[in-house]
Order: sequence, then structure tokens, then C-alpha cells
Amino acid sequence: MKNKIFLILLFSFNIYSEKLIIYAGSPIRSLKNSKLFEFIELIKDSGFNAVHLNYGFEKINFETYKKASDIGLKIFIHIGSPKKIGERNAVDSQGRNLNIECPLNEKIWKSLILDRITEFFNKYKGEKFLDSVIGIHFDIESYVDPDICYCDYCFYKYMEMKKLKSNVRKEERKEYLFEKGLLLDYKNFLKNNLENIFKEIKKKINSFNDALLISYYPFSYKGIVFPFKIFFTFLLPSKFPPPLWWYVYRKSEWISHALLKGMADEKNSVILWDDYYYWSGYIPGYDKLVNKKLKKVLNYKVRWMGSIDYLSDCFGKADYTPERAGREFYELLKNNEYGAILYGEIKKDTDIYESHLPYLQKIKQYLILQK
Ligand SMILES: [Zn+2]
Repeated sequence: MKNKIFLILLFSFNIYSEKLIIYAGSPIRSLKNSKLFEFIELIKDSGFNAVHLNYGFEKINFETYKKASDIGLKIFIHIGSPKKIGERNAVDSQGRNLNIECPLNEKIWKSLILDRITEFFNKYKGEKFLDSVIGIHFDIESYVDPDICYCDYCFYKYMEMKKLKSNVRKEERKEYLFEKGLLLDYKNFLKNNLENIFKEIKKKINSFNDALLISYYPFSYKGIVFPFKIFFTFLLPSKFPPPLWWYVYRKSEWISHALLKGMADEKNSVILWDDYYYWSGYIPGYDKLVNKKLKKVLNYKVRWMGSIDYLSDCFGKADYTPERAGREFYELLKNNEYGAILYGEIKKDTDIYESHLPYLQKIKQYLILQK
């Protein structure tokens, strides 16, 4: 019986052999040694071929990388999110200081992405598990909301480029640019500058590892498919949060787009982890729509990947039974040529193993049944 299941599993893997089936929880943070390794085995046994593992140099990190590699999982090193370095805050269009570093401070991106990758590959140089490390993943959630930046650095860099001399108070900068008919030009200037920062980082990464996949969360695209979100919101009210929620939630997409344009090209596509379905559940056809729109914006096909969050205490997110999680994850995978990402949080008073087991069992059944 066991052999039969194994053969069926093997067969089902072939169908998705080109696709990445990514488990993106954080087992290292939640589990102790033996249970952690069991969980890594469970991920593999459930039909996944890749896993996110936290960046780190402790024994537990090293052993988990080795374990995942030994059983044939591909690894994305999860390197976290940008840290504030206290040089200059981002400033919004009303002149308010935001609690994040100005996005045009290249040091934050360099220390988050380039320095960490370099340190990782240097410290683990010669280790066999590195062959299984196919990508790095980072989080820009704190950077999906900010307006375009109006801090002194950004604003006067632009004024200098335009050879404009006036001093303008922070809270009046947007209006000033608008009145001079320069607002759009200013936004493009900042986007292009940020794009160049990412380009430089990508060039350096490529110089020591040009096969490394770059992945980030969350992909943000307010300007691209916004009207369709509203449409679906009204169409399926029981699955959705209040209609205007999306509008309030995501204020901007400029950082996401600059990152995409700077770090990806036709040959080296970035993986976009999209959390759109977290609130709605899987919606057929939406994936094709996003791909089409993105191609228009970027002029090449990007590796857009949808995801479901099947376990969450967050208000407004879709409710998942294991059955629904299995069915929708299968749909995600079937309808995306690159693969799919599975994510779930941890239930209170339990661990990731206990919380996720029933879901992973169902997902395994779906991946086998739909061979
Ligand atoms: Zn700034």
C-alpha cells in the first residue's frame, strides 16, 4: 500500500515537475529539533518541492537546511524585512514623517538583500545544502503603503536636477509640484531612482550567483487591476471584506514596481508572492488577468504566484476548512504555469505541526487525486 501511494505521488510530481510548489510558513521559529525535522518531512510528503527557511547561522538553521536538502526539497532563504537605520524617515504627501526609512536610502536595500546574501553564501561556503538553495525571499510589507516620498533628500535631489532654487516646506511640496505641473515627473523621477538602486543590487548578486531566484512579498498593484477588485468584491460579498477595504489597504505600488523593473528582466524573472486571495479565496481567471496586465506594464512575462492563507485569526480573511484549502491550492497550482505558494499562520496555543497537519493532509490528497 505504501509503495502504491509512493508511486502515485511520484506520478503526480511529474505533472508539476516544472512548477514550484512552495511551502512558506516559518517552521524554524515554531518547532524544536525532532518535531521540526518531522515537519520538514511532512512538507515533502504532502507534495511540496520547495520550502522557505529562515536566514540564520545557528545550529538549528544549519541542520534544517541540511535536512530539507537531504530529502530533496529546494530552499528559499527567507531573509526578513528592511530594518530602520535611522538616517532619514520617509515623508508622505502631507509632510508627515513615516515610521520607515526613506525608500531611496539605498543602504536599507543593500543591507537587507545584498549584504545578507553575501554573508550567507560566504559563511556556508562549501556546504552541500547550498546546491538546494535556489532563491532568496524578502518581505516589503512595511513598504506597500507609503506615498511617494517627499523628504528633503528626495525633494531637493529632484529640484537640483530641474535646476529649481526654491525652499519649500514639507507639507507644501506636493502642492508646489502640482502647481508647476511637475507632480507626475517627480513621481517618475523617484521610481526611476529606486529602480536603479535595485538594478545595482541585482548586478552584484548576479556577479556571484546568477541563477539565484529573487522572491518578494507582497506584490502590490493598486494601479493595475483595482477596478476588477471592486467588481469581485460586490459579486461575492460573503467571501470578501467590505468593498472599499482594498482601496484603504493598499495605498501604493510604486516600490513594488520599481523593484520589479530593477531586479527582473526577461531572462531573470522575480517571483511575486501575491496575497490577493487571502481575503477572497481563489478566484478563477484572476491569475490570467494579472499576468496580462503585468506584461503590459513590464513588457515581459513575470513569475506571478498566487497564494492562500488557510489559517488566520485576522478579521476579514477567508475561512478555510482543510477541504477548501486542498481544493483551492490545487486550483492555484493548476492554473499557474510557475507554481503556487502555500501559507498559513499558527493557531493560538498550538504549534505549526498541529495547526497545519489536517490541511497538509488534504492538500496531499488533492495533489494525488488530480494527477
Ligand atoms: Zn525620501
